[in-house]
Amino acid sequence: MAKDYYKILEVNKNDSPETIKKSYKKLALKYHPDRADDHKKKEFEEKFKEINEAYNILGNETKRRQYDAGGTNNQFRQAQSSGRQNFSDIFEDLLRESNFGSQFGNYEEETPELDLHYGLTITFTEAAFGVEKEILIKKDVQCDSCNGTGAQDNKFDTCKKCNGHGRIEIEQRTPWGLIRRTAKCNECEGQGKIPKNKCRTCGGERILNRKEKVKIKTPKGIDNNQTLRIPNAGNAAKNKRNGDLFLTIKVTPHKIFKRERFDIYMELPITFSQAALGCEISIPTLTDNIKIKITKGTESGSVFRLRNKGIPYLDDPNYLGDQYVNIVVKTPKKLTRAQAKLFEELKKLDK
Ligand SMILES: [Zn+2]
Ligand SMILES: [Zn+2]
Repeated sequence: MAKDYYKILEVNKNDSPETIKKSYKKLALKYHPDRADDHKKKEFEEKFKEINEAYNILGNETKRRQYDAGGTNNQFRQAQSSGRQNFSDIFEDLLRESNFGSQFGNYEEETPELDLHYGLTITFTEAAFGVEKEILIKKDVQCDSCNGTGAQDNKFDTCKKCNGHGRIEIEQRTPWGLIRRTAKCNECEGQGKIPKNKCRTCGGERILNRKEKVKIKTPKGIDNNQTLRIPNAGNAAKNKRNGDLFLTIKVTPHKIFKRERFDIYMELPITFSQAALGCEISIPTLTDNIKIKITKGTESGSVFRLRNKGIPYLDDPNYLGDQYVNIVVKTPKKLTRAQAKLFEELKKLDK
């Protein structure tokens, strides 16, 4: 009985080659034997081999077709052995992908948490129309005394380990034998040079942790609990791109308006006579005041819709939501003698 390679790769029979490749990479990372604890090594190795066996077939269009057509297991054994080259290509591919190299083998330093997460409270109107702010964030920044080199007075010696290249060649053991690749020199952290004396400000660490002002601009239309990503504004790292800053937005409620997606809602209390006789009333919008006409005989619960008086769409601020005005007719609770008399007169007219 042939193995179910689709099941092994956790994909479906009609998934695209991209999906299969993606799933394979995910699993290969997960079960890479170098990442297993000692007692799990055997299990990971088995699983890793199985995953690769499956990918050798399903990752190749012709072999996949043969497999789908129900070829024998033997055929696949052959296919598998001749597919080794294929695997090593993919493996190299995997190694090139960001960070994978650092996840096994000790040559690359561990990636510290570079992304930062903060909250930011803004007003309802700021959320609607965007706002620029300067916020204070405690984060790792490059040392400016040494420009992030870690050297006092900009004086260096050439790194002996990599002869100034910053990279060294290493061999990596895998279930398929040794793979040679280049990695960042661990002696000079890829700089190719070593400070003669350590920078006195950062002690040679190249990075300082301090409070920094970050200028941010929220987009129009952002809503409560949405998260803003500010690329590059996270922690600085040696020889690496900075992390990102993630700001989760809290929007304070508005006194008048409630928001639903990009529409806003308000209640407009009017008197019984305004409703009965009709009137013109000035009401607030997010940007100004406008007059609306209440027609004669308007009932409580009537809704006015003011087009494009709502909030700009987050993905296209040229479009705006609408403003809905919900009319609430206030029934008078206390009447003056004169009012009471008038209502008595009205009652006589009721049919
Ligand atoms: Zn070096
Ligand atoms: Zn420094």
